Amino acid sequence: MMWDVIIVGGGPAGLVCSENLASCGLNVLVLDDRDEPNMDKLCGGMLTERALREFSLDENILEREIWGVTVAYREGESFTIDYDERVGGNVHRTKLGKYLAQRALSSGAEVRSKERVKKLKIRQDYVELSASETYQTKMVVGADGVNSIIKNLLNPMDDRKSLGFCVQYLMSMEPELIDERFGQRNEFYYGGDVSPFGYAWIFPKGDCLAVGVGALLSRVEENLKVYLENFVKRHPVASKKLAGSKVIRFDAALVPLSGFTSKIYSNHVVLIGDAAGTVSPITGEGVYYSMISGKIAAEVINKAFQKDNFGEKFLSVYKKKLKKQIGRELKWGIWLQNYFLKGQSSNVGIGIMSNKGMQKLVGDLLMGRKSYTQILVQAIPYWIKNKIRSTVSG
Ligand SMILES: Cc1cc2nc3c(=O)[nH]c(=O)nc-3n(C[C@H](O)[C@H](O)[C@H](O)COP(=O)(O)OP(=O)(O)OC[C@H]3O[C@@H](n4cnc5c(N)ncnc54)[C@H](O)[C@@H]3O)c2cc1C
Repeated sequence: MMWDVIIVGGGPAGLVCSENLASCGLNVLVLDDRDEPNMDKLCGGMLTERALREFSLDENILEREIWGVTVAYREGESFTIDYDERVGGNVHRTKLGKYLAQRALSSGAEVRSKERVKKLKIRQDYVELSASETYQTKMVVGADGVNSIIKNLLNPMDDRKSLGFCVQYLMSMEPELIDERFGQRNEFYYGGDVSPFGYAWIFPKGDCLAVGVGALLSRVEENLKVYLENFVKRHPVASKKLAGSKVIRFDAALVPLSGFTSKIYSNHVVLIGDAAGTVSPITGEGVYYSMISGKIAAEVINKAFQKDNFGEKFLSVYKKKLKKQIGRELKWGIWLQNYFLKGQSSNVGIGIMSNKGMQKLVGDLLMGRKSYTQILVQAIPYWIKNKIRSTVSG
């Protein structure tokens, strides 16, 4: 059988893409190698409000609504921003995967789990995929995450400069204790003692917490799990808040942090989500951007079927559209990352955080409430004040 579209990878990118394509009447197959699509994908599980709203995600998938954020930036110093509206929610990724797969199925897509794609060959008029059987399709969507085999095929000399490396514990805790200690806030911890160029997070869910440390892979010299252990057991604030919790799972994974992958389309192929590099280089938020890339890819592929044109030249419009929608965010995210990298530790920029106006901007940045350009423009006066203060005090 010749499929219209085969999507390799049933994460948020692939499932949103399949839902959109199947709604256009195309016959779409999603192949995911896990027991269920995207099952146990390592993630903090924070969805920003824009992701929930723009993709009309069902509120029932939320383990906890998020209305505020706490940022600890120096030993003993922290700030909390409480918003007067919900700013996001925390999910279990297995539940999100099930939900998105259900939506894809309802639109008419077929979703097959435990099906690992090992190879693909781009022929003249179609693509051949090897998994437990051989599949043929007019279009392939590479939605197979950060270690994508399809990305590697299109980019044999992958030039990705920045990769994030993350380690995370899932920790169980009595729901009443979570309510009392964390409420409806996500917590972020900064500083060289917490992470080498990155941050630690505690994202509360129903009866457990995602507790992780992320760092720039190029700056990790020691075992990052040691940082996580220190954070959980010895951080002056976090260790007390986590007292009584129990580790139920440990995972480690990479996340792309250098913007778009060089080549994200070719004859009969497009890349979306982590495979295409659609992750915020500064916060690591990826679910929202991956769903956007899935939606845009679906629009372009649908057009390709209308025109019966699956050539690289026609598909180049995918990159143009994606750049138009999220290119600026990724670009300024990289700029911010480089700014912080100029310093020698993740303590850089911490001085500025004691300013109330700046704190509000940091909260908005972490919760995806403003674009990076808006944040950068609004941060200029605080940055100048901070510069003058540090020059005067020598
Ligand atoms: C520790 C950590 C915490 C994070 N926290 C957040 C957060 O709180 N909020 C947020 O928005 N983002 C977060 N991210 C980023 C986010 O998880 C990713 O950006 C997002 O999952 C990307 O979605 P995707 O669909 O592109 O890829 P994925 O979710 O990685 O899905 C790819 C799927 O493809 C499957 N697959 C891979 N290879 C094959 C193959 N050969 N054949 C078949 N199937 C295959 C995989 O098993 C997987 O199910 C975090 C990332 C990490 C590592």
